[in-house]
Amino acid sequence: MNRNKAFSNLKRLFIVSIIFFFGTLLFAQEQVKPLVLQEMTWTDVRDYLKTSDMVIIPLGSTEQHGPHLPLGTDYYEATGMSKLISARTGVVVAPVLLAGYSEYHSGFPGSLSLKPDTMEQVLFETAEMLIKYGFRRFMFFNYHGGNNIVQQKIIHRINHTTEAIAVAIGHGSPIQESGEEEEEFFDWHAGIDETSIMLYLKPELVKMERAEKPDIRFTPRMQELKELAGKNPDLMIVWNSLFGVPVATKKGGASHELSSNGVWSLSDPKKATKEHGENTVSRMVEQAVKFIEVWKQAKK
Ligand SMILES: [Zn+2]
Repeated sequence: MNRNKAFSNLKRLFIVSIIFFFGTLLFAQEQVKPLVLQEMTWTDVRDYLKTSDMVIIPLGSTEQHGPHLPLGTDYYEATGMSKLISARTGVVVAPVLLAGYSEYHSGFPGSLSLKPDTMEQVLFETAEMLIKYGFRRFMFFNYHGGNNIVQQKIIHRINHTTEAIAVAIGHGSPIQESGEEEEEFFDWHAGIDETSIMLYLKPELVKMERAEKPDIRFTPRMQELKELAGKNPDLMIVWNSLFGVPVATKKGGASHELSSNGVWSLSDPKKATKEHGENTVSRMVEQAVKFIEVWKQAKK
């Protein structure tokens, strides 16, 4: 072997080693798994509690999401994003409920619903157990509008009746700023945003060939308020309160009264893209991770 050949072999070996080293590093990073309570053993939990008292509880729902998205969409969104946050921060995720408060979606078959008081009680009894073991910092990651009131109540109850602290870190939380791009007007449920998120998180469950723009039927009162709110945006809070309410309230805001196929959007969900979903998910996960890292610095 001449000197030149030996040198080139050495160079090749060096390059291969570098590729192997960074490849392993990349692989190791991708291997960072979320900590999910149901997948841990009791000894894992005991060891976890030696260094952390934090837990994330996702809140979602099992309810109709149009003809193209699965009933578990909100569950997969809340749990999926909580897991991504867990993988980045090492905080345990404890999924407790598959269903949420979704009474107003029950005009479409398959939607499940728990009354707000029932949900609150189940969540509180679960929290009591976690507190017994040493968990003290609770983060609720909600991704279903119907659960907002339950989330407020459970957080208040934990903060006012136990030693633990509870906060919200999901959709609508003060730690979550909305994106730079303007949200489409009234793209609330199973529309472009949510379809995009599911194309990113659970593409195998999205039936894009069935996605279609719904026929939206605003009541005359909704229509009038919408026009008035064009000049006086404060009126949007009244407009918003007409939606997501049971049929018995006679507001016309139950899902099947409002939408021909269960999608609540004035746009076409066929315009959804995986990239848009990834942007939304990454933004929310990033903001939650930033918050958790800061909270970790505070004493237990
Ligand atoms: Zn949803």
